[in-house]
Amino acid sequence: MNTNEPNSPISRRTVIVAGTAAVVGAAALSARGATSPRTSSSATPADPATTPANPRPWGFGGFALDPLPWKEDALAPVISAQTISFHYGKHHKSYVDNLNKLVDGKPYASQSLEDVMRASAKVEADTGVFNNAAQIWNHSFYWKSLAPNAKAPEGKLLERLKADFGGVDECKKALLDAAKGQFGSGWAWLVLDGQKLKVVKTGNADNPMLRGAKPLLVIDVWEHAYYLDYQNRRPDYVQAVMDKLLNWEHAASQLG
Ligand code: FE
Repeated sequence: MNTNEPNSPISRRTVIVAGTAAVVGAAALSARGATSPRTSSSATPADPATTPANPRPWGFGGFALDPLPWKEDALAPVISAQTISFHYGKHHKSYVDNLNKLVDGKPYASQSLEDVMRASAKVEADTGVFNNAAQIWNHSFYWKSLAPNAKAPEGKLLERLKADFGGVDECKKALLDAAKGQFGSGWAWLVLDGQKLKVVKTGNADNPMLRGAKPLLVIDVWEHAYYLDYQNRRPDYVQAVMDKLLNWEHAASQLG
């Protein structure tokens, strides 16, 4: 189990904060969805214990810690190198280590990370598997949602932000409201739900892809994401991230 953070039950409830509520039926992502920020069993390193003569039933998960897309000090002073060092090197890494232990010898070990999330979310006894798998995914996606010298949205993404929120500032306001409104640990997301951009919040390890939405950007609002730099001032952290680091190019790439 995760030893760095509370292992509280995940929330299955995602609250729509902004954007039009056109609910389009579950546009379920493909098994290894286009948004996959990570590793799947396809990248499983060779397991010396598994040979044709000595097959293990499911093998070792081999889920890996994705490399950061920038250096640890690249986001300072908005997010310090110290925060990134702990957040990535301790918290994110612990989810990877925990998941590999939890799935060893189980069917999950041969599945993609997203398939593990979808399957374990339905099994109460596998809450630990879900929490660690989803936190791996969420953090890999969070790192990609941040960039030094981030550029303003443009092109098709900008047009969709105008159409669905009224503009970039309105989208940022919705993200800030979601981040502030998330009670306790969780995430504030920009997603594509059907044909509409929306902002949603999720608690603990939960991820809106489980309800058919496609994540475009995410902001981590667990305290470990900002406490060293902002203490209890979550809104200041979120505002600074949105003003300086939010990687709209990543969002555009997810739109396709
Ligand atoms: Fe985190």
